[in-house]
Amino acid sequence: MANAGPSVYKACAACKHQRRKCNQNCTLAKYFPAEKSDDYEKVYNLFGMQNMLKILKSVDEDERDTAIESLIMEARMRLEYPVHGHFSVARKLSFEIEKAEKELEIVRQKIHICKGADNRAGPSTREERPGQP
Ligand SMILES: [Zn+2]
Repeated sequence: MANAGPSVYKACAACKHQRRKCNQNCTLAKYFPAEKSDDYEKVYNLFGMQNMLKILKSVDEDERDTAIESLIMEARMRLEYPVHGHFSVARKLSFEIEKAEKELEIVRQKIHICKGADNRAGPSTREERPGQP
């Protein structure tokens, strides 16, 4: 039977999970609407309700959306990489950056060699002249 009351308010994912009534003043309703129950459960399982609320209250109100996004990402990463979490991705990206920097250095050396080959025909641009007093 559908609730035919005058104010039908869909419980947020947090209240639905906690089996309590949700209202306009619910702290988590904005961040975890009913459609985001999957995200809520991931965050809940990793951080727990009290820590989630503590983190939310510890940041400025204009940063709470970002904080929740961060918690969701952290929870997803922890599920995907149970040992290292975000660190796995950071380490992988760090290796890729290191590899790209080595390739860049090789390309720079090749460019330097090619420029040196061009300069051999023309006048020397070196500042110091060995053997000259
Ligand atoms: Zn709620």
